[in-house]
Amino acid sequence: MTAAARKAAVTGHPVAHSRSPLIHGYWLKKFGINGEYGCLDIEPDDADRFFRTFSESGLTGANVTVPHKEIAAAACDRLDEAAKVMGAANTIWLDDAGRLCGANTDWTGFLGNLDQRAPGWDDDPGTAIVLGAGGAARAIVFALLSRKFKAVHIVNRTPEKAAKIAEEFGSRTFAHSWDNLGTLLEEAGLVVNTTTLGMTGKPPLKVDLSPLPQSALVTDAVYVPLQTDLLKQAEQRGNRTVDGLGMLLHQAVPGFERWFGVRPEVDDDLRALIVRDLGGAK
Ligand code: NAP
Repeated sequence: MTAAARKAAVTGHPVAHSRSPLIHGYWLKKFGINGEYGCLDIEPDDADRFFRTFSESGLTGANVTVPHKEIAAAACDRLDEAAKVMGAANTIWLDDAGRLCGANTDWTGFLGNLDQRAPGWDDDPGTAIVLGAGGAARAIVFALLSRKFKAVHIVNRTPEKAAKIAEEFGSRTFAHSWDNLGTLLEEAGLVVNTTTLGMTGKPPLKVDLSPLPQSALVTDAVYVPLQTDLLKQAEQRGNRTVDGLGMLLHQAVPGFERWFGVRPEVDDDLRALIVRDLGGAK
């Protein structure tokens, strides 16, 4: 008799666009694991009930995407440090006692991407600029502080949201309006876009990178398109760039290990598979 297949899924609303089934499906096949990974669209009105009764879902665990990350975290019996700080969980599982546990792996996804694609990027952590103050910004500020960046400047349209993050994360974080960006760029070693601007279907991100030192690294959380206008501009002026796809791939690693018992790697074939699915962007 063979053991029952373990099942996991990505939960969100909407969720059909998610690449998580492709990512986990790739690893399940690669390791020959008897498991399944699907897609579950959970209506917002049903989300609290779903996560609070997760043990009845038949799933070993799940990824959680917009807009349910906060609701999932609130339903968890246990949270890792990052999920506690962010008040949001993107990876959940049942422990041996049937308790719902949650983690936030967006920050390790961000770090894993830069470690893989820009080795040495944090050798001399100085000043970073984070554009945006939503969920992705929170994870990335957490990540940058963990790598000892001396100053993290958060630039956002709604100043109160940037100020709230700066207040929560302490003395190395500073909130700014877009008007300050030109001056901030002069000192920056890293620029990260975490706004939705520049994403396909959203307004463009209009930033003039000319004050930025050429040694600075520029990266984008947006990965549709893969090569955003921000990255194009940075590349044209000689800055090192890293696209946002690797963040998505690396954030998936801890969940897969948790649910299926094998720690997978983000390899070139996986990246190529998702790039093809995104429409062949570079
Ligand atoms: P979010 O919480 O909704 O935050 C959106 C941010 O974009 C806010 O700072 C918002 O500013 C800003 N923004 C939106 N429209 C704007 C406009 N017209 N002008 C100026 N600012 C604007 O979203 P999120 O979850 O952080 O996600 C942000 C982006 O990161 C998305 O494109 C998402 O796909 C991407 N992401 C990628 C990964 C990955 O693995 N690569 C992971 C997470 C997220 P206000 O505060 O002023 O509204």
